[in-house]
Amino acid sequence: MQNIDNYKFAGKKAIVRVDFNVPLDENGNITDDTRIRGALPTLKKILADGGALIIMSHMGKPKGKVNPKMSLKQIVPAVSAALGVDVQFAEDCAKAADQAAALQPGQVLLLENLRFYPEEEGKPVGIDKEDPNYDAAKKEMKERQKEFAKTLASYADCYVNDAFGTAHRRHASTAVIADYFDADNKMLGYLMEKEVNAVNNILNNIKRPFTAIMGGSKVSTKIGIIENLMEKVDNLILCGGMTYTFAKAMGGKIGQSICEDDKLDLALDIIKKAKEKGVNLVLGSDCIAADAFSNDANTQVCPANAIPDGWEGLDAGPETRKAFAEAILPAKTILWNGPAGVFEFDNFTGGSRAIADAIVEATANGAFSLVGGGDSVACINKFGLADKVSYVSTGGGALLEAIEGKVLPGVAAIEGK
Ligand code: AMP
Repeated sequence: MQNIDNYKFAGKKAIVRVDFNVPLDENGNITDDTRIRGALPTLKKILADGGALIIMSHMGKPKGKVNPKMSLKQIVPAVSAALGVDVQFAEDCAKAADQAAALQPGQVLLLENLRFYPEEEGKPVGIDKEDPNYDAAKKEMKERQKEFAKTLASYADCYVNDAFGTAHRRHASTAVIADYFDADNKMLGYLMEKEVNAVNNILNNIKRPFTAIMGGSKVSTKIGIIENLMEKVDNLILCGGMTYTFAKAMGGKIGQSICEDDKLDLALDIIKKAKEKGVNLVLGSDCIAADAFSNDANTQVCPANAIPDGWEGLDAGPETRKAFAEAILPAKTILWNGPAGVFEFDNFTGGSRAIADAIVEATANGAFSLVGGGDSVACINKFGLADKVSYVSTGGGALLEAIEGKVLPGVAAIEGK
């Protein structure tokens, strides 16, 4: 497999898929440029080596139609400032051949939002899945997707994928395009390499004990990961809103706490599997219950299986926090995905904070810790502890699918698998 450090970019044009799907305010100003900064090491390396850059990305969900509110033109000044180069812009990403051909070493061309073309995602538009012609439409769109990818590929000598956030999608720019470059001329960017290595550390290079912490509101959205982790971890902490589905399944009273009533059997099954596999399953024993879903609600500490009517568990209780720390502190590999409470409310951050503090301490003692998935990243940032864990992933869905053990199409396309 080709490697970005070994590749000779001098005199070459590189087409680089990045994730510049940055949040904008109503005036089109970038409110968080983390994603742009994330791609800079790759982009700067190519320019410093004497290459020319064709940068491509999606922004938002324009669903295959041109939408000025999601135009990447809005971010040209920010990308120019970040790279220290006046970035040129291609208004139509499928008709940029002349602009790409004219690029000189050190120059940069940013293509318009790829998702203005339905071919990028490759899903047929304007036809229902139930429609008898849907399969034919899908087949036709797949052919158009190949043509679109081929056009993008024709702009450059090599392809670099640095968009981990979309690596779980088989889109024209994230995977299909790789078919039009031979193995020596396609590679992962630095951000992708870091993400892939971090996941490999968690799944394939485990130093024990391995503690995974899965939180968030629902068990149903995390079940694939929980099942995959069950095969690997020593300690599995399940926390956040999903705990109450377990408490109810075991016959507890959970008041008004969030619960998936159709997942009670699933919860019992997870408990059984953990026993069979010798996994130490840590479920909260107590909680901070509130009399309303509000930061200012009245609170009381109560057993997680005896919450009075009219009250709901919004955070982990003191005993539970201790149990979390006991499972985290001795760990040598740690994965955290999902908060232990409604961390958006300042009065219900304690459980998540206890987890974060224990992870920071374990990391200082030599553990490898990966924090990933939107809300846990928001948590660790809120606590100002992001630089005290081993790795904070930029990937939401991509990270979760990778941890589930799925092969990411964006990575597979480069690795030729
Ligand atoms: P998820 O989207 O499933 O990863 O869950 C993240 C969300 O779960 C966050 O917005 C939290 O506020 C929410 N959450 C965590 N604990 C609870 C709880 N005990 N009750 C309700 N929501 C919760």
